[in-house]
Amino acid sequence: MRTSNWILTAALLVSISAAAQQATDSQAPTQSPATGAAQTAQPSQQAAPAPDQQQPSPVASQPAQAAVPQAPAATVPPPPTIAAPTTMDQVVNLFIEREHGLIKVLSNRTPVVETYLQNLTADPQLGPVPSEDHYFLGRLDMGENIDRKDYLKEEEKSMQQRLLGGFQKLYKVQYQPMGFSWMVYADRTDFDREHYDFRYVRREFLGDVRCLVFDVTPKPKSGRGRFLGRLWVEDQGFNIVRLNGTYYPAPRNSYFFHMDSWRLNLIPGYWVPSFIYSEEGDFSAGVKSKVAFKAQTRIWGYDLKKGGKDDELTNIRVDSVQDSSATAQDASPLQAERVWQQQAEDNVVERLTSAGLLAPEGDVDHILQTVVNNLEVTNNIDLPRPVRTRVLLTAPLETFSVGNTIVISRGLVDVLPDEASLAAVLSHELAHIVLGHNLGSKYAFNDRMLFSDDATYQNLGFKHINEEETAADKKAVEFLKNSPYAQKLDNVGLFLKALQQRAGSLNALLTTHLGNPLAEGGQVNRLSALSTQGPALDNSKLDQIAALPLGGRVKVNPWDDKAEMVKTAPVAITSARDKMPFEVTPFFPRLSRYGGNMPTAVPTTAANTPNTGN
Ligand SMILES: [Zn+2]
Repeated sequence: MRTSNWILTAALLVSISAAAQQATDSQAPTQSPATGAAQTAQPSQQAAPAPDQQQPSPVASQPAQAAVPQAPAATVPPPPTIAAPTTMDQVVNLFIEREHGLIKVLSNRTPVVETYLQNLTADPQLGPVPSEDHYFLGRLDMGENIDRKDYLKEEEKSMQQRLLGGFQKLYKVQYQPMGFSWMVYADRTDFDREHYDFRYVRREFLGDVRCLVFDVTPKPKSGRGRFLGRLWVEDQGFNIVRLNGTYYPAPRNSYFFHMDSWRLNLIPGYWVPSFIYSEEGDFSAGVKSKVAFKAQTRIWGYDLKKGGKDDELTNIRVDSVQDSSATAQDASPLQAERVWQQQAEDNVVERLTSAGLLAPEGDVDHILQTVVNNLEVTNNIDLPRPVRTRVLLTAPLETFSVGNTIVISRGLVDVLPDEASLAAVLSHELAHIVLGHNLGSKYAFNDRMLFSDDATYQNLGFKHINEEETAADKKAVEFLKNSPYAQKLDNVGLFLKALQQRAGSLNALLTTHLGNPLAEGGQVNRLSALSTQGPALDNSKLDQIAALPLGGRVKVNPWDDKAEMVKTAPVAITSARDKMPFEVTPFFPRLSRYGGNMPTAVPTTAANTPNTGN
């Protein structure tokens, strides 16, 4: 079966020899330590996708069985062994107990929480499309009272009513960032039989995991903001794996969102809150919808050190002190400059990783490095140090480079339609490196790494001046025209057109926090020489996929932050509304158990009796 998944293509092509290099046949390819194989790969031959290919299903992430976090048992106490329940009443008691166990186990964790929201407006052809967007990023303190610290200071005003789990209707709608992560638990304080009725509904598989489904309703007079909805409970440890519903009743002048909250079995015995999808709005005829939006909340970095301060102080490097043997030579001024830059680069990469913003080196980097390698080989680029790549874990579309490390955001990898477009955005950063536009050297001073995680964006920045941006774009186009992607630049042009079409309504997605933006003031400025390349953008053409929805490429393990490529089967696009460029979609992760155990038996005779809770 043909697939235009460029990730797969890139991975396969690492080992294919460069049969059709243009104008580079006589050049000796540079060995890339990153990939170990310096052959030039051809970009995907199927880069113009047919409607039955390309579009990944809008599935978020599935737990990575291979990406088992290291020694979680050392930090997380094992769950108690339980006797198999024989009635649904016992099952209810068990999952209530397990929920309290989870709250306790996670109470010293401060994961990163990101919410990306798109307000919607009705488009006659495309259905609900984004009209504007909002972005929130912070750390979630899962202790006594769930609270959050924001990485983005400009959002502070809307944090006033922290404890309100939704949005507030004052003069205009004010979104409460906290509200989107409200459904990490059903009820932080009073999840018990005194406050809730539980009714068994049925059994159902979520992915590989057999679940018991319960409807949950707050008892009369149990107070405001109680969970109302449905729970899925896995049938081995009786942990809640999914919550779907809202809170009720809402305080005056405010609302609670509808939420669909998913957990993953990333550590033995516990299912940790990972994805929350929220959606409001009604586009049926006659509805005067005031609020319409969809939002994805992702939680990761559970295994990050709290605050990260202790870690920073041990990072000061003294290894070169012992290097003074008789044969050792002093560094030349140029060597000293390079070592200095590498020190800065290493500092920044370590600091961003410890702040939960950068994935550890992994699978996705191999794909990215293959593409960078293709550009280097065909342009005869020979750098004193290899170019490394890393994935920024956040959604906003951005790239930047520090020293010889190119960083690209998860959101940007997600929306790029093909390998040539990926090469285009990477070539801009490669150009900065080749042109010596290195901004990072001040970070070789370790005192500059000593800041709290939530102040990362105030302390680090890699924005170039306009002249360097223009020079990098010019160089990048040169690289691309020499590269195996030269014949695919129409796709890059299409991507830039799609980005331009949505740029006015996706300000938050296009606001970068560390690097230069791809667009400013609704105008795409990156690689503008390619923006007229290729056919006109035509939404009605089902085989023209200019940009993908968010969430279709990269999945992140919320426990250890490892990033890997999503494996999804192609889903046929049947209408223009299926394209959803740059849009958020619901989550539907394929659940599986830690270590991949097979499901076992559940209560049998009582299982079909809806006798609980009443
Ligand atoms: Zn740049």
